[in-house]
Formats: sequence, structure tokens, C-alpha cells
Amino acid sequence: MHLQVSLTFDLSASSSLADLEEAIVTQGHESMCQALQQAIKEWEQHQRRCPTCGRDEVRVEGTVGRTLLLVFGRIRLALRRYRCQHCLHRWCPARRLLRDLRGQQVSPGLREAAVLAGSSWPYRHAAQLMERLCGAHISAEEVRQLTMQQGNQQAHAQQQHAEEVVASAPKEEKGEAGVAGIDGGWTHSCEQAGGMEGKVAVLACNKQVQEPKAQPDPSQLTWYELAKRSAKGKRLGPPHKRARWMQRRYVATFAPSHALGSLAEAAAREVGLDEESSVVVADGAQWIKQEAQRHFARATHILDWFHLWRVVRKAIRETQREQQHPETWLTQERTQIKDWLWHGEVDPAIKRLQSWQEKGEGKALEAALTYLEHQRDWIGSYEAWRQAGYPVGSGVIERAVSLVINRRMKRGGMRWKRTNATALVALRTTFLNTDWPREPSHRAFV
Ligand SMILES: [Zn+2]
Repeated sequence: MHLQVSLTFDLSASSSLADLEEAIVTQGHESMCQALQQAIKEWEQHQRRCPTCGRDEVRVEGTVGRTLLLVFGRIRLALRRYRCQHCLHRWCPARRLLRDLRGQQVSPGLREAAVLAGSSWPYRHAAQLMERLCGAHISAEEVRQLTMQQGNQQAHAQQQHAEEVVASAPKEEKGEAGVAGIDGGWTHSCEQAGGMEGKVAVLACNKQVQEPKAQPDPSQLTWYELAKRSAKGKRLGPPHKRARWMQRRYVATFAPSHALGSLAEAAAREVGLDEESSVVVADGAQWIKQEAQRHFARATHILDWFHLWRVVRKAIRETQREQQHPETWLTQERTQIKDWLWHGEVDPAIKRLQSWQEKGEGKALEAALTYLEHQRDWIGSYEAWRQAGYPVGSGVIERAVSLVINRRMKRGGMRWKRTNATALVALRTTFLNTDWPREPSHRAFV
């Protein structure tokens, strides 16, 4: 099959670059549509054999109209209908070519692009961008329907696959040490006042420490260079080592928490996380503890340090204000209690807080005490964990919640149904997981 499409257009001598670009793009889209029409005609020429009797004496007997939506625009096709001269069988050969569409108008390429756009941006915005960038004619509602359809399938498939993996016997070989971060992220809901919680987990392993860039010796720098560096906020201290988890996998759902547990365990097995030498970091929510116990029982459980410290610091601040202690008291108590907790000594910290309670009740103090009591089993020596190279804060997981949920789903005026939210996060995690191995600057999906 050989075909040629030409591009002809008129331009005025005074056209600007923008005019030229616009004209070429518009004409280009028309040529692409023509190319497809011709390609289908050409293809039909090669399908002249009668499917019933196998002879090739056929004649064209009219056409059948069909509209297609493609990445480069909308086209109207006239599909030929053949009639066999021998057995009088009538058929339309191009139907076989369009079989993949299952009676729909949207081509597979446009469908894929629409799903990617719809899971990255609000639907209206996605439809406008697609029209602007590639000339596709697709409405916001069509983008929504395609995204939801694909998302529901994806969510279902992920869940089923996870249940199967969890039910199967674990691998024999030893995996790698890594981290499982689990957290919730809230969105507005149209079914539930106060919103609903999406559950996200990120499984990461293969930690690589990146060697820091060599810092110049300050004594060799001029005053001008020093001033410039300090204006940019660059420190001259010893360089900071950065660690990166080279392999990550995200899972998320708005379904009940046990669904996330299975998804997380399946993903952990897939990235090759070794349960015993891995850690689970979370903020101490009840559902997370339950799922961690069920699916990562042998891992080390770490209560997110920043979360813990925020609660306790608030109680210290409140007590100082209520009982009118001087600022020096505040600094002193803060340092002492922080030091205890950082080394995993919960008892002296609790005793200290209780001793304040005798002098006066406080809401934050009460909350901090309950929190410490409830989270005890997840608190340990943060110092030792840090030394061992484990993450003790929720940087990895907070970023995961932001990537999977917040950037797409927490925009002004958005409200979600639970099933639709699950469909969308299923797509987002799929795109993230396939995009992740690429260089950061080449990632399409953020
Ligand atoms: Zn025939």
C-alpha cells in the first residue's frame, strides 16, 4: 500500500510567524484526516475476496456513513459496501478494521490520550487542552466518561490482582530493606458531608545515597561571592547527603481500608520488599495500625516523628500559657521532652505531662497524653532508626498523597462520588508507577 497526501495552502505575504504556524497546523490536521480516508479506501481495495464463496468478482454497491473521533480531529467516512457477483453476498469490509471500536466513535489513540488528560486535569480543562494541542474534537463529558470507564476497570483489576497475590504463598528469596508509608488524604464528597478519606500507600526500596556536590572552601571565596551565595540561601557548612528511593510503587483507593491493605501488600511483594527488614511509617490512625498489623506484622512500625512532636509541642506551649511559666521554662521543657521522645523514652515524658495536669487541665495536654498512651507501641528510638537509615518522618508519604490525590482532586468546587474517586486514583497510581522509572525531567505525569 502506497499513498501520498499533499499539503497546499495560500499565505499572504504579510503573514506573521503565528499565522504561518496556525495555517500549517490547521492544514496539517486536514491532511491527516484525508490520509486516513485514503488509507481506508486503499485498504478496502485489498479486501475484494468474498468471505462466503472466496471469489473476487465483486462490485461496489453504495456506501455506509460512519463518523470517527481521532487524535487529529473528527472525520466522516464513507465505507464501501461490496456485493459478490457470484453468490450475491453483501458485506462492508472496513467493519473489520473498525471492530476494535466496538461501535463507538472514539479511536483507541484518542481514548488513551483522553484518559491520561482526564486523570491529570479537570475534565473541561482536559478537553480544551486536547483540542488546542492536537486538534481532537472531544467534549468534557466524553473525557469524563472515558476516564471513569477506564478507571473503574483499572480499579477492579488492581483489587482483584492484589487479592490473588495476597492469597498466594510468599516468595522464598529474601527481598530488600525498604519503607512502606501509609496515609489518608481527604477530598470533598457529594455523598457525605465532611468529605471522605482516600487511602494511599507508597512502597519504596533500593535506597541510594547521592554524593553531594563538592563545596568551595570559604577562605578561597571573595566577599562578593560569599554575599551572592548567602543571598541565594546557600550554606557553607558540610554538604548534606541526599538519599533517594530508586524504586517506588504507589497504590490508592477510596474503598474501605482492608482494600488498601491488600493493595499495599501485593505492591510490596512486587517491588521485592523484605518484610522483616522494612519499616512502616504512619501517623497512628487506627485503620493504618490495623492494616499494618494484618499485612506487615513483622516489619518495624514507626510513628511519624513530626506528627508526634507536633502534638506534644502543642501541649507544652498550652501549659506554659495556662500556668504562666516564663519563656525559659518553655525552652527547657521542650528540649528535655524532645530528647526523651527522640530516644524512645515514653514513660518519663508521660510522667512529666501528668505532673502538669495536676496543676490544671488543658485540652492539648489531655490530647497529647491520650496520643502517647495509644501510640506507645509505634514509638521507639528515633535516634537509632535514623542511624540505621530508616525514614522517621512522613516526607515520602506526604508527597505520595499530594501526587495521587491532592493535585487532581482537591481543587475549588470539586466534589466526588466514592466509586469515581476510586476509579481516578487507580488511574493516577497506574500512570505514576509506569512513569516513575524515568528521569524526573522526562516524566509526563505529575
Ligand atoms: Zn461470494
